[in-house]
Amino acid sequence: MWDFIIIGGGILGMSTAMQLQQTYPDKRLLVVEKEDGPAQHQTGHNSGVIHAGVYYTPGSLKAQFCLEGNRATREFCDQHGIDYRICGKLLVATDDVEKQRMEALWERTAANGLEREWLDAGALREREPNITGVAGIYVPSSGIVDYAEVTRAMAATFERLGGEIRYGAEVTALEERRQEVVVTTSLERLTCRYLVSCSGLMADKVIRLLGQKPDFTICPFRGEYYKLSSQHNQIVNHLIYPIPDPAMPFLGVHLTRMIDGSVTVGPNAVLALKREGYRKRDVSLSDMGHMFTHPGILKVLGKHLRPGIIEMKNSLYKRGYLELVRKYCPSLTDEDLLPHPAGVRAQAVSNDGKLVDDFLFVNTRRTLNVGNAPSPAATSALPIGAHIVKQVQALLLE
Ligand SMILES: Cc1cc2nc3c(=O)[nH]c(=O)nc-3n(C[C@H](O)[C@H](O)[C@H](O)COP(=O)(O)OP(=O)(O)OC[C@H]3O[C@@H](n4cnc5c(N)ncnc54)[C@H](O)[C@@H]3O)c2cc1C
Repeated sequence: MWDFIIIGGGILGMSTAMQLQQTYPDKRLLVVEKEDGPAQHQTGHNSGVIHAGVYYTPGSLKAQFCLEGNRATREFCDQHGIDYRICGKLLVATDDVEKQRMEALWERTAANGLEREWLDAGALREREPNITGVAGIYVPSSGIVDYAEVTRAMAATFERLGGEIRYGAEVTALEERRQEVVVTTSLERLTCRYLVSCSGLMADKVIRLLGQKPDFTICPFRGEYYKLSSQHNQIVNHLIYPIPDPAMPFLGVHLTRMIDGSVTVGPNAVLALKREGYRKRDVSLSDMGHMFTHPGILKVLGKHLRPGIIEMKNSLYKRGYLELVRKYCPSLTDEDLLPHPAGVRAQAVSNDGKLVDDFLFVNTRRTLNVGNAPSPAATSALPIGAHIVKQVQALLLE
């Protein structure tokens, strides 16, 4: 019998496993992951930004964990010799409407306790000669890292402390009993005293395996990227973000310096027709059947129909995508955008048709399940893991 089984070898599963093993050095812990290594889904397909905490509702878990996570991620990287860079971020308004929206973000950054600087058009040009805008906000604490590398370091620490990891082990059935949880995987049948699920795009499916009826479902949104040709690796000095449209749940196509020296453009946000569907042609009839009969998802699609169609059009036509970035970086051309792998975001949608904004956890007597952990969950992985450990401690006291 295992003391704890953790489902998921992404950054949240590994962060939680590592911190649980540090808290309970004598307990037997096992991570089960269906892929053949760590960080194969969201954690290995993202922008690699150590977010500062600009956008999140003050007082939300996202605001709190992002701020803590920004510091904790840097400390973890320092301790483990992982390359990261605090290059700062610029939010750029390209017209007066965006400038007004940016003023709201300026207030929000204050409420979230961030250091920042308001830039007029001249100061913006001085910092970023290739970027055009009427004003900007400079946030110095944003950075970049490779989250797959962070996750591998967490997995190695966990194993060094005595934890075990089974790759290629897909959880196919769960049964919560009075004294234990029975976990059936594609490899074997296991039992544990407590179960933690950090299963990303499959979060709601795992909760349903427990016989629970979550009041949300996971909707997969593909984030497609391009990479700039290498002659543009120095085109920007910071991370460059547009001012997000408050009607849209995602941040907008940004220019991201990557830790390997390249610059990516993206991601957009298009409905994926398969949960782990990284290519446009990936389709799962069962995922589609679930999505298009879910009342919450149908409502969200109805509400965001126009922007959704525009995103789809820009996904199919590179020129449309290019125009999004040319708004603030006009020198880029068609030929500058090279192919780059996409990611798929796990976004919880409530049964009554809302995109769940904050991180969400669903607990039962013997299980703790991460229900919604979109961006900035990679930045926030260490505080989220610590939060789960605290919940486990509370369960053990009951
Ligand atoms: C395009 C994109 C850009 C992003 N950019 C950023 C960013 O710049 N900064 C930031 O902080 N965040 C970013 N995010 C968000 C961040 O990547 C995720 O929030 C984070 O990686 C979530 O980690 P996770 O461990 O919950 O999920 P995942 O990394 O998806 O891991 C879940 C794991 O569970 C496994 N699993 C699922 N079901 C089962 C099962 N039944 N049995 C066994 N294993 C199972 C999966 O195989 C997977 O490995 C981005 C996300 C995307 C998609």
